[in-house]
Amino acid sequence: MTPKKIAFGENAAKEFDYPERSLIITTTTPDIYNKWLDYMGIKNFEIYDKATPDPAIENVEALRKQYEGKNISAYIGLGGGSSMDVCKYLGKITGIPKILIPTTFGTGAEMTTYAVISFQHKKKLLQDEAFLADAAIVDPYFLPGTPFNIMRNSACDAAAQASEGHDSKIGNPLTKLFCREAFDILEDGIINDKPQLLPYGAMLSGIGFGNSSTTLGHALSYVFSNEGVPHGYALSSCTTVAHKFNKSPYYERFKRICQKLKFEPIKLKQPLDEAADVIMPDRGHLDNNPIPVTKQDVISCLQEITNGNPLA
Ligand SMILES: [Zn+2]
Repeated sequence: MTPKKIAFGENAAKEFDYPERSLIITTTTPDIYNKWLDYMGIKNFEIYDKATPDPAIENVEALRKQYEGKNISAYIGLGGGSSMDVCKYLGKITGIPKILIPTTFGTGAEMTTYAVISFQHKKKLLQDEAFLADAAIVDPYFLPGTPFNIMRNSACDAAAQASEGHDSKIGNPLTKLFCREAFDILEDGIINDKPQLLPYGAMLSGIGFGNSSTTLGHALSYVFSNEGVPHGYALSSCTTVAHKFNKSPYYERFKRICQKLKFEPIKLKQPLDEAADVIMPDRGHLDNNPIPVTKQDVISCLQEITNGNPLA
């Protein structure tokens, strides 16, 4: 599954024919998005700029009510993952078409059937065909100005998703094709300092893993995220160790990417045994891992992440 329409490359967002009376949803501030809207040349629209990171279901419901009866023709999610997640969920409950435009490149969220929404202060990963975009626009115009830290975490996430998605048990020749190509492009972009390649690589990664799922690396990472380590950062060590455990063909190449991006080792505050108990029920990721994973395996991986130096 992919969005109905995919527009990518330089000027893709500029040349897109936006429907009138769209509602643009973003987490950024006017000084930034006004520049973007000028570039896009969009006319006759409404804008909602109070979307927050980690959107809660209450925010989405409030937004739906606020624009009810206003004859909105399309939602446009413009920004990072949160803007797009709000858009995806709104589109599902109202049936109004959605256009997704990522401005930080890595999650590939504009390509997938996943959305992360908080219910009672707990982030939930949802999957629904109705979350797929009607159009996704991937334009490297938005890349310059992205802080190094965000760029590197996103790049690492994209590379982790491509390689885990490639190895996933439920992958098929077509998902592997996308994941392989994504990884090659991301690797070239990172190792050879060609950041302009990242948006396209992340997009292909989204199509690939979005149709096959990520595995052990992502499963291990969430206990670190719960303690405040950014998603992409946590994956640098977690996916490296998971690739080693899985004897992945991407182990060395992924590690080299992490070294190039200068990630440091990460630590866990909670006891490893407790963390393993949090990780084990994550069947969505673990069942798709290329080889079976026991609780003892998870503890060994966590040990290697926190006590060893997996990126050395
Ligand atoms: Zn990810």
